Amino acid sequence: MRFILSILLIFLFLKFSFCQNKVLIIGVDGCRSDALEKAFTPHLDSLRENGIYSLTSWQLGKTKSGPGWSSMLTGVWDFKHNVSNNRFLNNNFENYPFLPNYLKRLDASKTSALVVGWKGLFKISKNRGWDKCIKGKNDNDCHSQIKKLLKDADFDLYMVHFNDVDHAGHTTGFELDNEKYISAIEKVDQKIGELLKIIKNRPNGKNENWLILSSTDHGGIGKHHSGNSIEERKVWWIASSSQLQKMEINAADPGSYFYEGMPIDSSIINFYPSIVDVTATAINHLYPELGNNAFKDWGLDGKSWLNFQPDNSNYFFTESTTNFKTQHSKYVNNNCTVEITFKNLKK
Ligand SMILES: [Zn+2]
Repeated sequence: MRFILSILLIFLFLKFSFCQNKVLIIGVDGCRSDALEKAFTPHLDSLRENGIYSLTSWQLGKTKSGPGWSSMLTGVWDFKHNVSNNRFLNNNFENYPFLPNYLKRLDASKTSALVVGWKGLFKISKNRGWDKCIKGKNDNDCHSQIKKLLKDADFDLYMVHFNDVDHAGHTTGFELDNEKYISAIEKVDQKIGELLKIIKNRPNGKNENWLILSSTDHGGIGKHHSGNSIEERKVWWIASSSQLQKMEINAADPGSYFYEGMPIDSSIINFYPSIVDVTATAINHLYPELGNNAFKDWGLDGKSWLNFQPDNSNYFFTESTTNFKTQHSKYVNNNCTVEITFKNLKK
């Protein structure tokens, strides 16, 4: 038995050591967590089922696009990147640069490409380390551009930003009973389905090990966002890869770094995935030898989820249920504010 296990471990080691690690980040602007749940999104669901996800990935900064995408792409919260508007004025990207800068710093040959649907993010992203930076006219154009890059080019890290969900929210309402808003989310999901198919069929696909990260910068309420309501701050987060444990994480509202009168409960924030974790998790996938200490040394607020294990001192086991497909094991942390459900596929 031990011999078979050793062979299996050697096989897995060889398989992943010869594999080229790749990352795709899919940003969906202005997509409420509860709206994602309501919409028919089989492709995002498949990503959720194949990794770690949270539908309570609280946005701790200002619920505006400039600050939101800055947090995701720098791995730090608003009080460090200093962006509070959509013109990125007074930003502190000198000290907290965008994700591609870290890749180049670690290995100048690592390459990245960004396709973005929002002009503001495109303008600030140009000349910030991306080897390719493309502005799409709309989601359809962004989709064509990223498809082309995934088919014909070979970057280590890709990111696509879809803007139409946010646009639907501003023009018709960020509301669960607004069919136009829900339908915009479903259209993005269709596009994501095509991207996943392309990744699967890439010429060197068998030798590639993909991590797909997806999240949003904020939710919305009425036809607006940038306030402190739950509808605006409760967002979602997905990391999908065959190497990740399958788990769902639910966290109570920990407060906000930005809005007054909402002090942060620091016992919660380290135990659920949030937008600042995108940068650390993406870098960690491309550099598996790095750990969370390295990201802390760089001053990042985000952490990597690649080797996450619930720590016995923080979590205790509460229940286990089995249905025909999966076994769920639930852990709750000591303050009962974060709950992890492991989903183990039954053999
Ligand atoms: Zn936005």
